[in-house]
Amino acid sequence: MELYLDMKTIVLTLVVGHLFTVVLISAYWQKHTRDSILNTFFLAKCIQACAWLLLALRGGIPDLFTISIANSFLFIGSSLEAVAILKLTGSFQAVTKKFYMGLTIVYVIGFHLLLLFYNYEFIRIVFASFGTAVLCFLPAYRLMSGNGSTLLMKLMGVLYYLVTLSFLVRGIVALTTQQEMGLFTPGLIQTLSFLTLFLVMILGNTGFILILKERADDELIRMAYYDDLTNTLNRRSFITRAKETLSRCVKEQTYLSFILFDIDYFKKFNDLYGHEAGDRILQDLSMRINGFLGPHDLFGRYGGDEFAILFTGLNQKETANKLEQIRELLELAKIDGVPERYSISIGVITLIPTKQTDLETLYVFCDRALYEAKHNGRDCISCGDTGDIALSSHPVTG
Ligand code: GH3
Ligand code: MG
Repeated sequence: MELYLDMKTIVLTLVVGHLFTVVLISAYWQKHTRDSILNTFFLAKCIQACAWLLLALRGGIPDLFTISIANSFLFIGSSLEAVAILKLTGSFQAVTKKFYMGLTIVYVIGFHLLLLFYNYEFIRIVFASFGTAVLCFLPAYRLMSGNGSTLLMKLMGVLYYLVTLSFLVRGIVALTTQQEMGLFTPGLIQTLSFLTLFLVMILGNTGFILILKERADDELIRMAYYDDLTNTLNRRSFITRAKETLSRCVKEQTYLSFILFDIDYFKKFNDLYGHEAGDRILQDLSMRINGFLGPHDLFGRYGGDEFAILFTGLNQKETANKLEQIRELLELAKIDGVPERYSISIGVITLIPTKQTDLETLYVFCDRALYEAKHNGRDCISCGDTGDIALSSHPVTG
């Protein structure tokens, strides 16, 4: 089977495809705010659309435009697309910026030196193909193996590996055969390379937008479930998850510990050192406790300076030990702009819950224990009496 497609048609589809991406992103911006990732991708697509348009006009307009400017645009456009993907995967740093800028400058200058001193078409193809392969490799690698890479990212990674491979093959074939392989010359390798480019344009654009959406969704979920300042569960999501844990403990008849704690004299810290220093205390406390807790422990901010924790599978003594460790952990805290240490008072209830136990009741009894800890001089732990819970009919109101 011969797979020789008309190269001019493929190049024209690349022009139209890139132009439509530009139009769609512009339309999207009518109602949405711009961000640096989409800005970079947009710029990449604009420059690539111009490059492919110039390439499509080869033979009709001077070579200066269709070879020199078009290839420079292709290098810049591909580089920007790689940068947009690296930004998307969260792996774009100052050093990556320097690397891509440097590489693009080297490519543009190198290509023009070839034009001046060694102007053979196959050499230009070797240079451009290997150059583009290098540009595509890092995004492909980061999409596949980056931290928190999703299935969608991995699929995009495969796509970019494919482009890298197709350019490598194109470069190797041009180098080894040294045969004429002009832009519009039909040929298997040529056709496959441009088809891969076409594929990456269609699927890559869709994938890019879907990954952007995936990130936005993650952020919305985070905002819905977590407290912005402390990165702990917010009250609503803590209660939802706590109810699920309570049901599980009832079913498995295992220990459940409900803990409430509150920062001592927090108002004083705000008044003496400012509200921002108070915020830093809340963040420090949450970070330390988050680092200490296990993956199955729940930790949430109930509001203001009051937090709740849920342990499962620990009896009263084990719970008290763990809480004492948390209390001691906070003794080590040093906060910028706060010369004195802060402390917390803790109220805790540990029990094997029954079907009659509900979270509201646990909260009320735990709050009483917390009040007792405050009353006992603060910076201490008070264990609530679980006997009363068994007697109480729910919901308890005071
Ligand atoms: P106590 O030992 O009895 O708990 O005394 P307290 O001063 O800590 O009293 P309380 O717990 O009632 O004070 C809570 C304070 O927390 C009141 C409010 O100004 C402050 N606060 C609530 N939310 C925030 C916040 O997000 N940031 C800061 N900096 N302060 C907050
Ligand atoms: Mg307080």
